[in-house]
Amino acid sequence: MTVLVLLEHDRGELAEAARQALNAARPLAEELGVPVHGVLVGEDAAPLAQTAADFGAEVVHVATHELLSDYGPDAWAETTRQLGDALDADVVLSVGSDRGNEVMAHLAARSGLPFVANCSRIAPNLGPWSITRIQWGGSLLEDVTLAAPRKIVTIAHHAAAATPVHPDCRAVDLRLERFEPELDESVAVTMIRGRDGQRRGSTLSTAPVVIGGGRGVGSADGFSVLEELAELLQGRVGCSRAATNNGWRPHSDQVGQTGTRISPDVYIAAGISGAIQHWVGAMAAKKIVAINTDPDANMVAKADYAVIADLHEVLPAISEEIRRRRDA
Ligand SMILES: Cc1cc2nc3c(=O)[nH]c(=O)nc-3n(C[C@H](O)[C@H](O)[C@H](O)COP(=O)(O)OP(=O)(O)OC[C@H]3O[C@@H](n4cnc5c(N)ncnc54)[C@H](O)[C@@H]3O)c2cc1C
Repeated sequence: MTVLVLLEHDRGELAEAARQALNAARPLAEELGVPVHGVLVGEDAAPLAQTAADFGAEVVHVATHELLSDYGPDAWAETTRQLGDALDADVVLSVGSDRGNEVMAHLAARSGLPFVANCSRIAPNLGPWSITRIQWGGSLLEDVTLAAPRKIVTIAHHAAAATPVHPDCRAVDLRLERFEPELDESVAVTMIRGRDGQRRGSTLSTAPVVIGGGRGVGSADGFSVLEELAELLQGRVGCSRAATNNGWRPHSDQVGQTGTRISPDVYIAAGISGAIQHWVGAMAAKKIVAINTDPDANMVAKADYAVIADLHEVLPAISEEIRRRRDA
């Protein structure tokens, strides 16, 4: 009996979501009186085992197979299903990231079990469990009950913190187990064959600084001032749907309900009005700076700081000042 956590990673880089999943699993496992096990899929994830232990995985399983050399939802789901069976897992849990929800949906289908996505509260009972999940980009909380021999759930992105077992970062003893699933070509339905234009390192969802641009940027070329500032602050450029709809930026840069949910230390929203669908993706930022010509814009009202001015003047001025101070 266990809570089994799928530990999301990309080619050996642990996702923030994996730490959040372990944080969410710890109190749940405690309530159930069972241990937390984590599964890392693929040999390249093996070096992440100690971090998984530090964040609460009492046992870390590294699943290896030649079909697990890169991400594939069917292969990851089948691996998790077989391990869940072997452990007789009570719960299989991940975070409701794109990959988390995708793998869990495949897992549920393969197991013939229901799946509850994007939960913000899970109350285990002897009978059906009582769960609250986040719907419609955060504007609706839905109370559901889940009756299934194995609960397959994802935790809403950023609903759980990501703190280690020991806040002083003392390492936890690692218990590592190898797991070799039985897989065949039938799980190689969707596999990554190559990547285009993806930078390794921080992503939009993990970047400590995000500079977002909206319709106010005016054109694709107009984003050069955002790129410049992002480069100086080692951040990433994000955008609103108006920018993607206009073809100024790829969808992978979009922040919001139908884009990426971000949680940087600082989010600079330039020329973005702050529509609810954008806000739900940005609201987890620790500090928000709005740059907008309209003092009544929603983003201005919600931001910690606001600059009422033309972004094409403000952003280059910030970059200039950063360079001046660095050179001084
Ligand atoms: C189902 C659904 C899902 C959606 N999902 C998303 C989503 O994931 N993400 C998202 O962003 N949107 C999403 N939207 C769209 C959303 O409703 C808004 O239309 C969109 O966010 C508006 O983008 P914007 O703020 O860039 O544009 P606008 O609302 O047009 O705002 C532009 C802002 O720029 C300011 N401005 C103009 N010129 C300047 C200047 N020179 N300097 C400074 N400020 C300037 C203006 O004052 C204004 O506040 C969704 C909509 C629907 C219906």
